[in-house]
Amino acid sequence: MFESLSDRLTGALKDLRGKGRLSPADIDATCREIRLALLDADVALPVVRSFIAKIKERAKGHEVSGALNPAQQVVKIVNEELVGILGGETRRLTFAKTPPTVVMLAGLQGSGKTTLAGKLAKWLKDQGHTPLLVACDLQRPGAVSQLQIVGERAGAAVFAPHPGTSIGGGDNALGITAADPVEVAKAGIAEARNKQYDVVIVDTAGRLGIDAELMNQAIGIRDAVQPDETLFVLDAMIGQDAVSTAEAFRDGVGFTGVVLTKLDGDARGGAALSVREVTGQPIMFASTGEKLEDFDVFHPDRMASRILGMGDVLTLIEQAESVYDEQQAIDAAEKISSGQLTLEDFLDQMMAIRKMGPIGNLLAMMPGAGQMKEALSQVDDKQLDRVQAIIRGMTKAERDNPKIINASRRLRIANGSGVKVSEVNQLVDRFFEARKMMASMGRQMGLPGARRGQS
Ligand code: GDP
Repeated sequence: MFESLSDRLTGALKDLRGKGRLSPADIDATCREIRLALLDADVALPVVRSFIAKIKERAKGHEVSGALNPAQQVVKIVNEELVGILGGETRRLTFAKTPPTVVMLAGLQGSGKTTLAGKLAKWLKDQGHTPLLVACDLQRPGAVSQLQIVGERAGAAVFAPHPGTSIGGGDNALGITAADPVEVAKAGIAEARNKQYDVVIVDTAGRLGIDAELMNQAIGIRDAVQPDETLFVLDAMIGQDAVSTAEAFRDGVGFTGVVLTKLDGDARGGAALSVREVTGQPIMFASTGEKLEDFDVFHPDRMASRILGMGDVLTLIEQAESVYDEQQAIDAAEKISSGQLTLEDFLDQMMAIRKMGPIGNLLAMMPGAGQMKEALSQVDDKQLDRVQAIIRGMTKAERDNPKIINASRRLRIANGSGVKVSEVNQLVDRFFEARKMMASMGRQMGLPGARRGQS
């Protein structure tokens, strides 16, 4: 996401490097480049105008800092203004004082609401909440069963009418027909109260375009459930239409926050940069793929830093922390510096890293990732799968003591894991080389276990 914008902005700012002093002409030229980059990324014109005006004013206003040279100063200003248009502070979900907290999802058909309902449910569950998903999209064929599927994946309960039947049992005790989303919504809230779910996520119907009936239905549901949060779900790939769609929802049902979806597919990112400024409501979450885990809280500062090619080290650190096992890391460091790392340890480490997501995504968060695009495109999870398969094809004794892996063992491992013998050779040889190199680095860095120093 944001790749071409990121390239253009870093390109524009790079031209300033090495200049001891910036003339007004330098600043104008840079601002012109930034303006074009933003317009090409589909950022709405009024947003571009005010952004450029602020940069110019601040850059020419001689904001001085002893620590930064003039070019760094401009980068800092651009970064701060980017954080500003992305919303400034990270905005968290507000929970009701008395549960259940009601979160209503609104947006066009295909924007990713149902998928989001599952992601949000999983995210909430991971934090100890007990969410209930309520299926009020009774228009799109299959929407109810889709919600049931995502609910099941997320391990969350789903409240839904059976198609063509009534809620409340065969005798129609509640008198609710499957065709009335407002009634389903109300019954869903009642269910949450009865069964003590603490968050209710209400999935609503969308249409392909804005129409009055859709909006009135969403308003009907809103009035019935009185949501604590109404999240407007916006497909980042719709480009320029994002602004008018967001305005229509703001003026129609209204919303308290935005969720950007399909950021994985959007190379331009204009929607993200315009929607906050245009609607005045914060972007709260970002969705970056079809799987339940491809979802996170939206942090304006981290996103700005990523757009400017400064990497997203904070997210990387957080992801690392979530899979990090301190004792395992201490043990590994000790084994590395004493040259005793085994293939078993290597496999453990690799699995821990891979829990953080596809390797290309991780590397893309590193500072300077923009310039390493070529190399990143070569990083292939399939290659790692093969390495994993080879190590799994070994016996415990072989993993613990790779020195015993002789020619006949190599042949057996290759056959067992479906690779060529040369690949097994390569892996084992590289492992020995790496173990030696890491042991000597470990000694230099004084890692625990280094004193034993045998390799
Ligand atoms: P709804 O009509 O608003 O409920 O939209 P859906 O949840 O059915 O999503 C429409 C399509 O977009 C589905 O095929 C989803 O798998 C896909 N989708 C949703 N979110 C994302 C995302 O963040 N990235 C990608 N690549 N696809 C997504």
